[in-house]
Amino acid sequence: MSNKNIKSDIQVLMYHQFVENVSDGGKIKLFITKKKFEWQLRILKFLKYETITFKDLKKIGLENRNKKRYIILTVDDGYKDNYSVLFPLLKKYNMKAVIYLVSGIDYNKWTIESDEEKKFSLMNLSEIKEMQRSGLVEFGGHTLTHPSLPSLTDKELYKEIIEDKKNLEEKLQEKLTSFAYPYGHITPRVKKMVKDAGYDFAVSTDTGTGIIEDDLFDIRRTAIDTGSLIGFLKKISPKYLNYRYKKYGNKKFKDKELGSKS
Ligand SMILES: [Zn+2]
Repeated sequence: MSNKNIKSDIQVLMYHQFVENVSDGGKIKLFITKKKFEWQLRILKFLKYETITFKDLKKIGLENRNKKRYIILTVDDGYKDNYSVLFPLLKKYNMKAVIYLVSGIDYNKWTIESDEEKKFSLMNLSEIKEMQRSGLVEFGGHTLTHPSLPSLTDKELYKEIIEDKKNLEEKLQEKLTSFAYPYGHITPRVKKMVKDAGYDFAVSTDTGTGIIEDDLFDIRRTAIDTGSLIGFLKKISPKYLNYRYKKYGNKKFKDKELGSKS
């Protein structure tokens, strides 16, 4: 990472599940243990990072975003352990996270179908509202049923993105600011629907330049779920996402409406 052309920006980290013990996790290993996560929060505190949400980023203003040491912790899907394990730690350290909710089902139907994963419950509305009231958690959209969006028709996209946003906003009585593409699958057509929905930001995984202002609807993130403390230090360094982009470029996804047949 010594290349001088690599640029710095706010790092956006991606988590899924938080477990007391490794045996509580699933076989896809989209989890971090409570112990390891607490260490990460302590490291962020020690290094004087301030955790912010996308609403905060909007308030701070993109032009001021690199004046302080900000970082954004994002959590996908809205598993029940976000309430039981993550939330107490956010309160303990007074730190913030953005959670992307799958709002039309109450368990991980999509990973059970694709990988015969164990069944995990998602949070219910009263848990979500309690977290929302704390001011430490911002919620964002992550569709109704967690499909790979490029494979859907426009009508289906509308339902999964625009209707989902309206439903959630009604439940939370608050405007949603950001969206996460399921599996990070993104095409221009999908991105347009997310813009049309009225979101201000959207986060991806293996696409985007790692520089937020380059594309507010393709904000690259780093998966943190597993890995060592040394790996974590590397991943929170301000140049990591742009380094990933320079090294690996952008993954490409096929779009149903634009001719790919499947
Ligand atoms: Zn997801």
